[in-house]
Amino acid sequence: MKRFKKYALISLACMIILYAVAVANPGTVLSRKACSSWSLVKDQAFLMTHPRQNDKPKLPADFSIQPGSAEQVPVLMYHYITPQAYNDQPNNNSIMNLEAFEEGMKYLYEQGYYTATLEELEQYVMGKKALPAKSVVITFDDGYQNNYVYAYPILKKYGFNATIFLIGSRIQPETSVFDPAKKSYLSFEEIKAASDVFEFHSHTYDLHQKGFMKCGVNYASGFDTENLEADIAKMKELGIDSPYFAYPFGEKSTQMVYALQENSYRMALTVHQGFVKPGDPLMRLNRLTVTSATNMAELLQNE
Ligand SMILES: [Zn+2]
Repeated sequence: MKRFKKYALISLACMIILYAVAVANPGTVLSRKACSSWSLVKDQAFLMTHPRQNDKPKLPADFSIQPGSAEQVPVLMYHYITPQAYNDQPNNNSIMNLEAFEEGMKYLYEQGYYTATLEELEQYVMGKKALPAKSVVITFDDGYQNNYVYAYPILKKYGFNATIFLIGSRIQPETSVFDPAKKSYLSFEEIKAASDVFEFHSHTYDLHQKGFMKCGVNYASGFDTENLEADIAKMKELGIDSPYFAYPFGEKSTQMVYALQENSYRMALTVHQGFVKPGDPLMRLNRLTVTSATNMAELLQNE
């Protein structure tokens, strides 16, 4: 017993020394490792004092996927749409050529895809609603004006539904004259005009930036939950008060998920690549990035 105590004390002392060395030498691999372990301990402690609602839905006892209905649903992720002639960053995955976007939508239409709403996706994940085998959810992040100018007419032509995750502070009070060479954001007027095709949800009011340092890594500002609480209130004041959310940069933390759930968010999308299945964790759903180079048939596993 004495021997055990001695070893425990020695290892505790070693851990303290390791931590002290790490703190004194920030930026080294060792310090990052020590910091990460410390963060894990803090996250566990947070979970013990703040029991989180389980975001993994319990599927109904009689749940099964019927023939002809979707075993998994792809949630497509787009950002900025621009004609190829204006795309000066062809390797930027957040900028999609209009021509490729149009081709992708045409493919979905010709293949008879059903474009589900986020409410339908939520019901699907909970095992409460079956979706057609060929179902897809179309999402856009950030709220660019080009989503209205370029994507909206195409989506409308095909009778598609889609979602835009808006950054509240970037919504324009007045509609600006669209210039394809300049980055611009949707106005309130355009949001209203596009609401027959798009549903609008939160991508935070003003936390779409880095600024939270943890273990030598610069994370999204929403990691500071005090910021997040105030930000959620602002977004709700703006009238964007739905239970659906997309994490800026796809970055999430235990504390962030807790704060969102406490503020009645029920479903949140990441940028983690993959399909969505019934029973998946609602606050951590996968998406699929679509770029100009994406082969839609391959992405949707139709080949
Ligand atoms: Zn974003």
